[in-house]
Amino acid sequence: MRTRPRPRRLASRPWTLPVLAAAAVAAGLLTAVPHGPAARGGPDGAAADGAAGRLAAAGAPQGKARPDARGVVLAVHGGAGTALRRDETSPEREKAYRDGLADAVRAGKKVLDRGGDSVSAVEAAVRSLEDNPLFNAGKGAVFTADAGHELDASVMRGSDLAAGAVAGVRHVRNPVSAARLVMEKTPHVLLSGEGADDFAAAHGLEPVTQDYYWTQARWDALMAAKKKSGGARSAATLADEQAKGTVGAVARDEKRDLAAATSTGGLTNKLSGRVGDSPVVGAGTYAKNSTVAASATGDGEVFLRGAATATISNLMEFGGKDVASAAYEVLVERLPKLGGDGGVIALDRKGTFDAPHSSEGMLHAYLTEDGTIVTKIFPDETPPNT
Ligand code: ASP
Repeated sequence: MRTRPRPRRLASRPWTLPVLAAAAVAAGLLTAVPHGPAARGGPDGAAADGAAGRLAAAGAPQGKARPDARGVVLAVHGGAGTALRRDETSPEREKAYRDGLADAVRAGKKVLDRGGDSVSAVEAAVRSLEDNPLFNAGKGAVFTADAGHELDASVMRGSDLAAGAVAGVRHVRNPVSAARLVMEKTPHVLLSGEGADDFAAAHGLEPVTQDYYWTQARWDALMAAKKKSGGARSAATLADEQAKGTVGAVARDEKRDLAAATSTGGLTNKLSGRVGDSPVVGAGTYAKNSTVAASATGDGEVFLRGAATATISNLMEFGGKDVASAAYEVLVERLPKLGGDGGVIALDRKGTFDAPHSSEGMLHAYLTEDGTIVTKIFPDETPPNT
C-alpha cells in the first residue's frame, strides 16, 4: 500500500495564486471571505437546496433507535449532509456512488479475507474512498477559503486505544495512511501541517502537489460559496451550506478487534488552519473493543464540542446503552441541540451496526458475515429508526 519515498518538501500551493487571481478578476468574489465555512454542496459539491427542517425530512431518523444491521464486519460512509435525491440522480451518478462505496467495502474485505486486522481493513477502505474524486477526502477534497486544500485524517485501534492522526496536510495522497504511521511509528497521536507532510513523505507515502486534489465540482462549490458569502447570513445558514462528504470506515476482524478511521478535506471555504472533528480522537473517530468503533461526519465544530464518538462509547460503557441507542442519542438528540447535524457509522464487537443521522442524507455501505454488500445512498434507504 505504501509507495515510493520522495521525502523532498513540496512548495506550498504555488498554483493557487494565478488561479485565485483569475477567479477574482472574473467573478469579483474573493473579497467576501467569511469568518466561517460558507458553501455546502451535495455529496460531490453540486449545488444544494437549503436543509431547513432536515430532522423532519424524509429519511431523517426519528423515534426509537434500532440497529441498521447485524452480523456486520465492515462498514464505510461517504459523508452526511444534503441528500442525493432519486428524482434528480441519473442512473450513472447513482451507480458511481454505489460503486465507490462498494469498492471501498471490497478493499477492506480483501484485507479481512486474508486474515488482516481491522486497522488494515479500515485503512484500505478509506484509501479507496480517498482515491475516488466523488468524495471529500484525498482526491476530490474541498477547497479552503484561499483556494487550497488541507486534509485531516485519523485512525484508532480498539484493542489498546492506540490512535494516530494528521491535520492540515497539503501534500499527502492518502492521509489515512499517514495517520496510521503516526500511530505506529511515533509516540504521538496527532501531527499537523508541514511537519505531518514531511513525516509522511519521509516514511514513504506518496507526496502530491495541491493540484492533485482538484475537481471541477469542488471548485464550483467554492465559487458558489464565495458568491453567497457576499450577503449577510445567519450562523445557521452558514452551517447549512457547509459541504460534507467526509469518508470513514469501521471494522471488526477475526479476533473481534475493532478499528475506525476517518478522512476529510473538511468544509468548503473553511479558513486556512481550521481543523475539524475528523482527526480528533473522541470527536470524529473512536474505537474501543468493549464498546464501539465509530466514524462520524457532519458539522465538525459541533462534533468536537459534543465529543461525539467518545460520548457514544461512554453511553455504552457507563450508561448501559446498546450501540444503536447510544449512537442515536448522540447524533439525533444531543448534537442538533448544539446547532449541528451529521451522521455516524457505529459497529460493536458482536457485529451490531447502525448509521443514524440527523442530516438529510448519509451515504454508507456495509458488509455482512455472509459476504453481502449493502449500499445506501438515498434517504429512503436509511429509514427512520422506528
Ligand atoms: N466533519 C467534517 C469536518 O467538519 C466535515 C464532514 O463530515 O464532511 O471537517
